[in-house]
Amino acid sequence: MKKKLIAGNWKMNGGLAANDGLVRGLLAGLASAPSCDIAVAVPAPYLAQVQALTAGSPIALASQDVSAHASGAYTGESAAGMLKEFDVRYALVGHSERRQYHGESDAVVAEKARQALALGITPIVCVGETLQERESGHTEAVVKRQLAAVIHVNGHCISEIVVAYEPVWAIGTGRTASPEQAQQVHAVLRAQLAAASAHADRVRLLYGGSMNAANAAELLAQPDIDGGLVGGASLKPEDFLKIIAAAQ
Ligand code: PEP
Repeated sequence: MKKKLIAGNWKMNGGLAANDGLVRGLLAGLASAPSCDIAVAVPAPYLAQVQALTAGSPIALASQDVSAHASGAYTGESAAGMLKEFDVRYALVGHSERRQYHGESDAVVAEKARQALALGITPIVCVGETLQERESGHTEAVVKRQLAAVIHVNGHCISEIVVAYEPVWAIGTGRTASPEQAQQVHAVLRAQLAAASAHADRVRLLYGGSMNAANAAELLAQPDIDGGLVGGASLKPEDFLKIIAAAQ
């Protein structure tokens, strides 16, 4: 059975002192060999700091984005090769905040996943519908379109990705998808991956959207939910540790 993955997304939060306290708090509360995989996606300026704090620990480092290009005149971006130098193991791609505020298209997200995979970084491909799309009955079509773009560009190594289903209406709102709603979409994504790869069962499908210490166990008990992508609750060590404990 594959290990679950609990990934924290700090978003644009933190600072040297706060990061230090947060990571030390997590390390103090973690078993030496937790039975799920754990990652934290930190703001780019703090990669070196968190790399040093987590070295040799069960906490893997993740970036919150990766460039769709290998190098060159792309001011402000970080190439997969640069992230690799800081031992980045996972890269979020296509987070809804990147799609919404930075206009990232499905094609750009697919290229970002390609760049990460080429450097041995596992892309965590985020997909999810807005409230309006859900209410108009388009949830399945939207997530399938978003994932299809990534499969189209990365079909040969699609079993190497992680997918995070994050309904946009549940992110940072305190409004969580019910376990049944989440499982329904995860089953659709699993079937889409199975049609593209004989190894689709290896792909971890995370749920994200107001996951917290109280609702994690029920979500993580669903057959196609293989972990969580956690925003707000990943900033509080005690809450993040409870979610990790629920993923055993
Ligand atoms: C996220 O940022 O990916 C996320 C799921 O945030 P939150 O847990 O705060 O909803």
